[in-house]
Amino acid sequence: MGGAWDVQVVEVSARDGLQNDPAELSTAQKVELVRRTTAAGLTRQEIASFVNPARVPRMADAEAVVAALAEDPDRAAASYIGLVLNARGFDRAVLTRIDEVNLVVAASDEFTERNQGMSTDEAVRTVEQVAPLARAAGLVPTVTVSTSFGCPFSGEVPVDRLVALTERLAASGVEEIALADTIGVAVPRDVRDRVRRVRAVTGAVRLRAHFHNTRNTGYANALTAYEEGVRVLDSSLGGIGGCPFAPKATGNIATEDLVYLLERSGVTTGLDLDALIAASDWLATALGGPTPSLVSKAGGFPTTT
Ligand code: ZN
Repeated sequence: MGGAWDVQVVEVSARDGLQNDPAELSTAQKVELVRRTTAAGLTRQEIASFVNPARVPRMADAEAVVAALAEDPDRAAASYIGLVLNARGFDRAVLTRIDEVNLVVAASDEFTERNQGMSTDEAVRTVEQVAPLARAAGLVPTVTVSTSFGCPFSGEVPVDRLVALTERLAASGVEEIALADTIGVAVPRDVRDRVRRVRAVTGAVRLRAHFHNTRNTGYANALTAYEEGVRVLDSSLGGIGGCPFAPKATGNIATEDLVYLLERSGVTTGLDLDALIAASDWLATALGGPTPSLVSKAGGFPTTT
């Protein structure tokens, strides 16, 4: 990763944020969203999902979104991520100008089955198959471990199970493993424990964390992950989003709220908070109502007059 900042924030609004929103943005609006977040300094963004459009209709324009951004002046500095659940999705992604493919494995069998129609073991084998293909094609392969902290169907996810899974994924050729709290059940103690245990078996593979604020613990979890050495954090402008296959899975942590928390804590992100708030206001208007973010309403730290 490198870079001059303490934390790399990965913006997920254009994919995770929008895939389940009642409002449907046009392709042009999605492209404008990515351009606005890019202008605020977010160089790494999840912008498309190469999944079956019949299952996730909001993401049917994946190819068009990637193509529309291809000639942007700051394109070379950006790294765009596309979600891929299987070999068929990879076959679509590799034909586009996407930079990274983010594969997905859920820590629980029942969630993997409902999310992508296969067992956890089959999903791992998909990662083992696709990661080398991605590297050979010049794409960066990463994997997100959904339900790392708990499953909406099977409840507790044993730490030993998560550790064994991530150890196997670390050997698959992926460059990064994201621990995702898909349904927002984690608390800082879980984050501390799981990050430590996972790090012990994943070697040089970079760790990333993805939190939802479903139970108001998302920001405490993100700060805890940072304190445990995680240097890549996902968030979504406005705090929008949620998985269509996870019941009651509400928004991601909001990018502007996360950036306020980190920067006021002396942790640099390289992001422009005022530009993020302006982009978040634009997004709320585009979606037709307020977002869960609080910093977009309150503003940053008061400036003296
Ligand atoms: Zn999410």
